[in-house]
Amino acid sequence: MQADYDVILIGYGPVSQALALMLGRQGRKVAVIERWEQRYPLPRAVCIDHELYRVLHMIGMGEVLPSITQPGPVYQWFNADWEELLSIPWSLDSISGGPEVNFVHQPTLEQALDQAVDAQPTVEVMLGYEFLDATQYPEAATVSIENIATGDVRTLTAQFVIGCDGANSKVREIIGSTRTDLGFEADWLVIDVLLKDGVTIEQLGIPAAGQYCNPVQPTTIVPAGVRDGRVFRRWEFMRLPGVTNAEMEDEAQVWKFLEPWAGPGDIELVRHKVYNFRSLLADKWRDGRLMLAGDAAHVMPPFLGQGMCSGMRDAWNLAWKLDLVLDGNADAELLDTYQLERAPHVRQLMEMSIFLGKIICIPDAEQAAERDAAFANGTHPPFPAFPILTGGLLRHAQASDASDGAGQLSPHVFVSDEGRSGRFDQIVGGGFVLISRNGSAACALSAGQRAALAPIGLSEVVLASSEQGAGLRDIDGRLLTLLNTMGWDAMIVRPDFYIYGGSSAAGAGELVDDFIADLDRAGVHIPTATVA
Ligand SMILES: Cc1cc2nc3c(=O)[nH]c(=O)nc-3n(C[C@H](O)[C@H](O)[C@H](O)COP(=O)(O)OP(=O)(O)OC[C@H]3O[C@@H](n4cnc5c(N)ncnc54)[C@H](O)[C@@H]3O)c2cc1C
Repeated sequence: MQADYDVILIGYGPVSQALALMLGRQGRKVAVIERWEQRYPLPRAVCIDHELYRVLHMIGMGEVLPSITQPGPVYQWFNADWEELLSIPWSLDSISGGPEVNFVHQPTLEQALDQAVDAQPTVEVMLGYEFLDATQYPEAATVSIENIATGDVRTLTAQFVIGCDGANSKVREIIGSTRTDLGFEADWLVIDVLLKDGVTIEQLGIPAAGQYCNPVQPTTIVPAGVRDGRVFRRWEFMRLPGVTNAEMEDEAQVWKFLEPWAGPGDIELVRHKVYNFRSLLADKWRDGRLMLAGDAAHVMPPFLGQGMCSGMRDAWNLAWKLDLVLDGNADAELLDTYQLERAPHVRQLMEMSIFLGKIICIPDAEQAAERDAAFANGTHPPFPAFPILTGGLLRHAQASDASDGAGQLSPHVFVSDEGRSGRFDQIVGGGFVLISRNGSAACALSAGQRAALAPIGLSEVVLASSEQGAGLRDIDGRLLTLLNTMGWDAMIVRPDFYIYGGSSAAGAGELVDDFIADLDRAGVHIPTATVA
């Protein structure tokens, strides 16, 4: 059987769009199957974090992003008396450069991604097709799809099929994956509005980004992106016991909810809908040629704004692995590291979102008073740390030169070098990178290591240690600061920006040898004579 496509993506939500763009930029032949002719017009996600902002930059969206995003303000959580319970510094300068979080209008982001996908000559987007079934064979997988307008059924073949088909994923059902329920459930009315011309949140006295943890009516108030210079805002109101979804969605009630903040003279309603927030994680993300990404693999409450971000992280993790496999530089078993790396990361984010959900979703005055007291006297459990990668292709602790930083996200910096200057990712060009500081000749690859790593194309980057020193100058200083903090002279960064591991100059040879051995174990084809 000859495969028609390298990859078929089921669904054309933001996760599929990002993956289609990543694969298209690799030159892969991709088909995308989506049942709706039009993009989903209503907003859901409102924020993208710094990591995904960097990823989107890397896949060619850098020019459009500033015009469709707003930098995040501080995210404040208040009690019923508007006293701050906690704050999340979304406006701080992040390790990727720029704020921790940016706000975006999801349909506008999807439109921009769609245009970028459209410009990929090897990607074919098939709208108006229902995905029916998939079957696996030794050489390829077949996918049957129905043209919704005509009822015609067709069969396509591909090396891999990725179910980016959302929370009710059919691909998930086909691979027989159950889901673990992490136990959170709540219904919230989500209201999106546009500010009328000349109206500002400052005039209306609306917090820039906040959770109003008032048991009488738990409420979310956040920015919701910009389009053509117009400003979107979002309010969310928790459905309380005894109130129905229909009562929540009644337009008169919607205006009543908004009354303390704004009226028809200030804002225009864009949409309002009750969503059921759940926390469900697929137990199996891959079965041979079939895989899951995005909401098909995980859904979480949106209090941390990480649903779409996590789905795009899935796409980013899969894209470089598929690149190696489809080029014949790795066995398909490399794809087993996908769930191993992504599932624990997303599970921690789900738990963080639930942690936040439990702070706000308290409709009982007594429990809310206990919560407030716990924050006031410092006995409330601390806010969990943002996850790092903990499994998969990472240098593990058994290495003699301790690699505690393995699995961290690497910082992004602006660099300059012999008259050139720009983003590190743009100048270095992505892929696996060995970053070392100037003056550590021991960090250079040996001829044998270079031969071993030829199939994956590791780039070597030497950072100048001083203004005058030779090498790439780290203008922001974030990379050098990390090396200093970790006591490293060298580190290996993966194509998805996560750190494989780092070492002193004396341990650099062993770091690279461990990397080669780990690649080999994960299924990457390393010339046999060169494996340590
Ligand atoms: C109120 C709310 C707020 C949110 N806020 C944030 C936020 O701030 N930040 C964030 O990161 N995330 C947020 N999220 C989550 C985010 O919106 C989702 O995680 C994201 O849209 C999921 O994208 P996806 O591509 O995986 O799935 P979807 O967007 O659901 O796309 C799946 C696609 O598959 C298609 N499809 C399904 N089955 C078939 C079939 N059989 N045949 C053909 N096509 C099919 C569907 O039509 C759909 O287009 C929020 C969600 C909600 C509800």
